[in-house]
Amino acid sequence: MSILQKIRQFPAKSMRRNVPATQIPGEISKEIMELQDEIKFLTSYSSDTIYRLRYDTMSYDYISPSIVRLLGFTEEEVKRLNFRSLILETRIVTSGMKKVDSFAELEKRRKSGDVNKWQADYLVRTRDGRKIWISDISYPWFDEAGRIIGSVGTLRDITERIGVEEKVREELAKIAHTDVLTDLANRREFFTRLDGELKRINRTHSEVSVIIADIDHFKKVNDAFGHATGDQVLMEISGVIKSCLRDTDLAARLGGEEFGILLPETPMEGAFWVAERIRLAIAKHNFKAGDKQMPLGVTVSLGVASANAGEDLDCTELYKMADTRLYIAKNTGRNQVSIDEIDIMH
Ligand code: GH3
Ligand code: MG
Ligand code: MG
Repeated sequence: MSILQKIRQFPAKSMRRNVPATQIPGEISKEIMELQDEIKFLTSYSSDTIYRLRYDTMSYDYISPSIVRLLGFTEEEVKRLNFRSLILETRIVTSGMKKVDSFAELEKRRKSGDVNKWQADYLVRTRDGRKIWISDISYPWFDEAGRIIGSVGTLRDITERIGVEEKVREELAKIAHTDVLTDLANRREFFTRLDGELKRINRTHSEVSVIIADIDHFKKVNDAFGHATGDQVLMEISGVIKSCLRDTDLAARLGGEEFGILLPETPMEGAFWVAERIRLAIAKHNFKAGDKQMPLGVTVSLGVASANAGEDLDCTELYKMADTRLYIAKNTGRNQVSIDEIDIMH
């Protein structure tokens, strides 16, 4: 018979710390002590910490020695201090990583046995002041009458995993609003931000302008030098546009070879000069094409439109105004900025 089989045969009470060794038959007592040593060895070296939490006192009945590696506090220290005082943030895994601000309701449910498996991540301050993320997975602990008297669980350091997850999340969020080729904002982000700005100007009684820029005869660049060179030009133009803007402005690639620029707190006159600066900077930029690095003359045409508080323009209407002006710039010679519709009349 194995030690475990013998232990299992032995009344459960014998596993409790308070049972004097003399009450336990010699052979089993020795085996229990060996087993205790083995458990201590395993739980000291395990990277996970095992605990048993009593709900009547909300204190740890058992916590494995590896806690010192996790938190810097010894088992005795952790038993004495209130573990919750170390927790800076809690996210409940089963509720889609929702942050928890009040524990009272959760605790009530957990104690009533409503929660079969408890899984939460905690941001915790260690003894030496570091912040680490801990995963806590526990199951209800029943007494002999089947009542829930606490929980048995494990704590694991997941700081590195959380770091990687956060990076991935940031990356995904960035991809969702970024144009892959140019690293500018994408069309969706442009219209979302423009919509926000148009709502904001009514509250703050300010103004917002947009510039739509389109590369002149871009098809010819692709036809003459190939698509890869065309892409290179799109990337370089993006850099030039960005270099002409303030941090609070937003440059986006709206599609193909069309760019949108959002200028918060900017009236028409200011926006015209920004558009003119972009036009000149691109016209002067030294674009090089292909293996032979042939110089390319690339220009853009731009249309500008502005909205003032109280005008009640939506983002589509403002975009359309700028787009109409862009086509006036195209139709009247290209490589220029248009700020009104008058030319379209003749
Ligand atoms: P216009 O001055 O009237 O704007 O002439 P255009 O040739 O620039 O305009 P058109 O709309 O006729 O052609 C746009 C071209 O832009 C067609 C397409 O080959 C090119 N284009 C669109 N998206 C991309 C892209 O992502 N990469 C590259 N290399 N070319 C693109
Ligand atoms: Mg074009
Ligand atoms: Mg176009």
